[in-house]
Order: sequence, then structure tokens, then C-alpha cells
Amino acid sequence: MFRKAHFFFTALYGGTTSAIIVILSLFYLYTSQKNLWENLFDSFENDIGTIAASLEQSSDVSMQWLAGIEFQNSYEIFIIDNNVPFLYNTLHDRTGGGSLTLLTESLNAGSGTSASTDTASHVNNYSGIRHSEYRFHSPSANRYYFCSLINMERDSSASQIVILDSLESVQESIRKQRLLFLCLDLGAAAVLFTLAWFFTGFLLKPLRENHEKQTRFIAAASHELRTPLAVILASSECCRTSDEAQRDGFFQTIAKEGRRMNNLINDMLTLTRADIQNFPLNRRPSELDTICLNAYESFEPLCRREGLSLSLVLPDAPIERCTCDPDGIAQALSVLLHNAISYTPPGGFVRLTLSYHKDRHASFEITVSDTGIGISDEDKRHIFDRFYRSEKSRSSKEHFGLGLAIAHEIIRSHHGSITVQDNPGGGSVFTVRLP
Ligand code: ADP
Repeated sequence: MFRKAHFFFTALYGGTTSAIIVILSLFYLYTSQKNLWENLFDSFENDIGTIAASLEQSSDVSMQWLAGIEFQNSYEIFIIDNNVPFLYNTLHDRTGGGSLTLLTESLNAGSGTSASTDTASHVNNYSGIRHSEYRFHSPSANRYYFCSLINMERDSSASQIVILDSLESVQESIRKQRLLFLCLDLGAAAVLFTLAWFFTGFLLKPLRENHEKQTRFIAAASHELRTPLAVILASSECCRTSDEAQRDGFFQTIAKEGRRMNNLINDMLTLTRADIQNFPLNRRPSELDTICLNAYESFEPLCRREGLSLSLVLPDAPIERCTCDPDGIAQALSVLLHNAISYTPPGGFVRLTLSYHKDRHASFEITVSDTGIGISDEDKRHIFDRFYRSEKSRSSKEHFGLGLAIAHEIIRSHHGSITVQDNPGGGSVFTVRLP
């Protein structure tokens, strides 16, 4: 599911951004090339205007002068005298088959009968001299030309000068520019798709982790619920075939497993509410020393029964009240004390300490230390995970591995912290800090 989403969002982000870049570069290419053609055409028109003005002033056309213009501007110039192409200059053979075809194509384009696609025209009128400029494509040379057709009517004769400016070098640089943009676009698309792949992976990571966490939670919950349920089903089955005395024992088992299931379901509901940000916190100014004292009084009998010694250390002077949910804090403390009692062998010590630090960020600190079995460094990394139990405590039926997860959620929702360290004298120390 996440793999599919990863591909889909990569294609979406990468495709969209690449399409935008391609559209922008096409637009840039179109406008820059259009401007280039227009500027070149304007400059060609200006040159032709100058030539036409010179022709107008001189009484006859000097072949030497035309050859000079042709050489200077890399033009190709043809003269047509009374509709016959005229060999105006022996230095330039313009009568070859290729040149004549080009001449015919340019004239056809000018008269609008050619297949030439994008001709543009401009006409200037002088007395006796008319000229028009246009662009045409020569199929035989496979290139574009600017063409100027100068009509000269003098006395009774009519002659035409055809000036062609090859655009081969311009076409070549346009081709190079298009190739460069194609390479740039492909490179940009490759970079964008790679970035989109990592970016999407980065975005999906917390979702994937959350999903995996949920799946693990459901699997572990089902597993934990299956055991008491199996016992209940087996016991109820046995009730039918057993006598009165045995039945009593089975009923007790059913009730015990029922209570176990009830506790587990309550714990799971608490965690689910924390997940959907619906943790029932009832914050109010509360006296943490009273909460600690109540916890001490509740657990003292249990400690005595287990052969443990429980002590309570409170600040000497009265401390400020803490804005917190007293029931939530009491629940977290009861998890810590219950664990300390469960994992400390008889004869051990459990200590509950409250202190108040009135520095720049005033904070309350509650520690629960024991002289029990201790927690390995590997376990320390996981004990706040749901359904996590260390190897040593797996056999215990009373523990589901949800207590510390719940305590962690409660303290987290108070914007506090809960940490665990080794007790220097053996055992563990859990420290809760509340702002
Ligand atoms: P559980 O219900 O199993 O105690 P918790 O979430 O409260 O679940 O604790 C997770 C695990 O952390 C326990 O299984 C146990 O291995 C370890 N643990 C918690 N508190 C202590 C402690 N005071 N001493 C040693 N191990 C502890």
C-alpha cells in the first residue's frame, strides 16, 4: 500500500514540476526565437532600405557594386531583366541548376504561389523602385532565407533584383539552443523525480511507522486477549461435566481471567484515547506532595506483604501547587510503584521522592527507585513501547507490557518527561519531570 502511494506521489510531484519546467522552457524558447527572427528581419529590411536608396540615386546598376554588397553581407543576388535571369557577374556563376531552382522558389514564395509556409512581407515604395521582403523556406536547400524582391522600372525596361540572405547559421544556433534546452529539461526532470522520490519517502515515513505501530498493537492485543479467552472457554466447557466442588474452582478461574481481560481492555482504551488526542486530562492546581502521600499509603500494605520496605521523601518546606491532572499523575505513579514492587525481590527497598526545582524553568521531579532486578540497556530503549516486556518478566501473567506506555502518555500529555536510569546500588530509578 505504502509502496504504491510512494510511486504515485513521486509520479505526481515529479510529473507536475517537470511539466511546469517544460512548459516554461517551451514558452521561453518560443518567445526568444520569435524575437530573434523579428530582429533579424528588421535588420535585413534596414539593409535592403539602404540598398534601395542607393539604387534610386544611381542612374544604372554597377555589377561591381552588387558584387561588393553580396560579398560584404554574404547575400546571394540575382538580376532578372525583362523576366530573364541575367548573368550579371562573371565572377559568380548564378546560372547553375541549384541557384536557378532557389531563384524560382524565392520568386514563387514572393508571388504567394509557393509551398513556402511562413512568408512575411514589407513593401517600400520609391519612385520607380518598389521592394518587398519576406521569409521563405527553400525545400531544395532545406533552409530558410530572407528574400528581398526589388522591382526597378526605368524608361521602358523592367528589371528585378532578388537578394537572398541564408539563415542557415541562425537555424543551426536555434537547433543547438533547442538541444541544450532538451538536455536541461531532461536533467531537471531526473533531479525533480529523484527529489520527489526522497521527499515523498520522507513524508510517508511517519505514516508508515504509525501504520506498523498500529498493526503491531492490534497483533499484540489479539495475542494477549486470546490467552484469557481460551482459559474462560475451556473452564466454561469443564463446568458442564464437573461436579459441584470442581465447578467452584472453574468459576473462580473464569472470574480471574475476566478481570484480567477487563484490565487489558481498559489499558488499551486509555492508549487509544491518547492516540486520538482524547486523553481525559482534568488539569487543576494540585498538591503533588498529597498525591505522593496517597500513593505511598496505598502501596505500603502491598510492600509489607511482599517483604519490601517503602519510603517516602518529601520537600521540607511547602512547595507550589502544580497544574496537572491529579488522577493522571496518581495513575502514572501507581504504574511505577507497582513495577518497582513487582521487580524487586523480598528484602529490597522502594523509595518515592518528590522535589521541587525553582530555577529558570520551575519544575517538579518525582523519582521511584528500587533495589530490584534492574533493567538492561537494551530493555531501557523499549520499555516505554506498547506490549514490551523484558525476557525476565515474560512469564508473569499479571503484566501485559502496557503500564509504562500509559505512564509515558500521561506524562507526555502534561508536557513532562519520564526517564529511566540504573540505581547506583542496583535496581532502577524512574524520574518524572513536570513543568
Ligand atoms: P508490565 O505490565 O509488563 O510491567 P510495563 O510497561 O510497566 O509493563 O513495563 C515494561 C517492562 O519494563 C516490564 O516488563 C519490565 O521488564 C520492565 N520494568 C518496568 N519497571 C521495572 C522495574 N522497576 N524494574 C525492572 N524492570 C522493570
